[in-house]
Amino acid sequence: RIPVLCIDGPTASGKGTVAAKVAQRLGYHFLDSGAMYRITALAATRAGLAIDAAHEERIAALARQLPVRFRAGRILLAGEDVSEAIRTEEAGMNASRVSALPAVRAALVALQLGFRGLPGLVADGRDMGTVIFPSAPLKVYLTASAACRAERRYKQLISKGISANIDDLRADLEARDARDSSRPVAPLRPAQDALLLDSSALTIEQAVSQVLQWWQE
Ligand code: C5P
Repeated sequence: RIPVLCIDGPTASGKGTVAAKVAQRLGYHFLDSGAMYRITALAATRAGLAIDAAHEERIAALARQLPVRFRAGRILLAGEDVSEAIRTEEAGMNASRVSALPAVRAALVALQLGFRGLPGLVADGRDMGTVIFPSAPLKVYLTASAACRAERRYKQLISKGISANIDDLRADLEARDARDSSRPVAPLRPAQDALLLDSSALTIEQAVSQVLQWWQE
């Protein structure tokens, strides 16, 4: 079996954290596919391109030759460390906008497949199990209630000293989920053979243990 473990799910479900820890425990590579959409959105904005269908081809062209490097846990875009810049709420919303453009998705597929390697891969995203690695032996769809996700995001921002409003955060994440679920190409949904994990009442550690237990079965 190919050693690829997919973790998909909506915004702020804890996917990123769970996927990174699972990869670490297993000694596998980690593919943060959302980062690619975030980086593409940032590159487009910096190139002065509005993120809409009229600029689809130009943004896809950028995505095909993204001058990006992943080094020691940092993300470099044309040599500049953009690790923090791509994590803002605005960057997430822009990522969701570029990800709705089919030509951009097509451009990023090759980049994502290039991450497949030994000794194994944990892939985090929206369509890892449905589109990118359809024959992966384990696909987890990680969810949590909208209230719970908004609260987690709120605590995360506050702990970084960033002020936030929990109702606005919830409205934003619901808008992002709605866009991600309704786009024509690779809409957000669980793969048919995905195992559902609702993390609303779980700690990160409990979610990690459940995924590792499934992987070892
Ligand atoms: O997971 P993250 O919040 O970093 O993803 C940012 C955005 O990128 C998502 O809201 C989604 O629209 C898009 N995305 C996607 N397909 C993926 C990963 C992310 O469309 N595999």
